[in-house]
Amino acid sequence: MRPYILAETNWKAIKDQQVDIAILPWGATEAHNYHLPYGTDNMEAEAVAAEAARMAWEAGTRVMVLPVIPFGVNTGQADITLDINLNPSTQLAILGDIVEVLNRQGIHKLLVLNSHGGNDFKPMLRQLGLRYPDMFLLTTNWFLAADRRQFFDSPGDHADEMETSIMLHLRSDLVLPLSEAGAGREYKSRLTGIREGWAWSERLWSQVSDDTGIGDPAAATAEKGKAFFEATTQKIANLLTELAGVDNKNRYRRE
Ligand SMILES: [Zn+2]
Repeated sequence: MRPYILAETNWKAIKDQQVDIAILPWGATEAHNYHLPYGTDNMEAEAVAAEAARMAWEAGTRVMVLPVIPFGVNTGQADITLDINLNPSTQLAILGDIVEVLNRQGIHKLLVLNSHGGNDFKPMLRQLGLRYPDMFLLTTNWFLAADRRQFFDSPGDHADEMETSIMLHLRSDLVLPLSEAGAGREYKSRLTGIREGWAWSERLWSQVSDDTGIGDPAAATAEKGKAFFEATTQKIANLLTELAGVDNKNRYRRE
């Protein structure tokens, strides 16, 4: 039983336990090429949150990992079977209720640990920050914390070498042989601005990829996944430990 994982601990422990920072892992339920499970983003979010929280806890930081929210924004995958979409407005309602609880109970720091590219919590945290000025609200996309180019030969952005390597490290029992995976080829937009990255439109997933993957998973290994996982969780643990030391009313350095 880990005292920093809410789903595992109990009221006997919690009623007198100081909690300075809540961590909310937020994933998605969606196809990940042919070879990774639908729960990939949720398993990654839970594992990253738990390991970062363990390191922060052992450094003396009073953190608590909330249960993962298993559905994300999948507006671009409407025709992919059993990709479950939560609209951004629904996410705001859920997040708002959770922040209200934390604020009322005096837990005034929240890190939303995002595990899915379709989720975008920044506008929600802007809006909730106005409503709850005592809260220090943060979000991170864990998959961007470490520089994936230092760990992988051909990083993509969905069920790619990175994500496949992480899952080989965490849950190899749920990964099909890589011979079963598609190539994860991404078809590029006809619009120059979108290809260059300065214009944006929702990707229509069944047109942008043949196999729902974006990025070739062929070079994935558990060893690469372990190295990236360790680098990522160390950075997030450091974020938590720094956050614990910051006064919510004095967040900026003057020197
Ligand atoms: Zn994913």
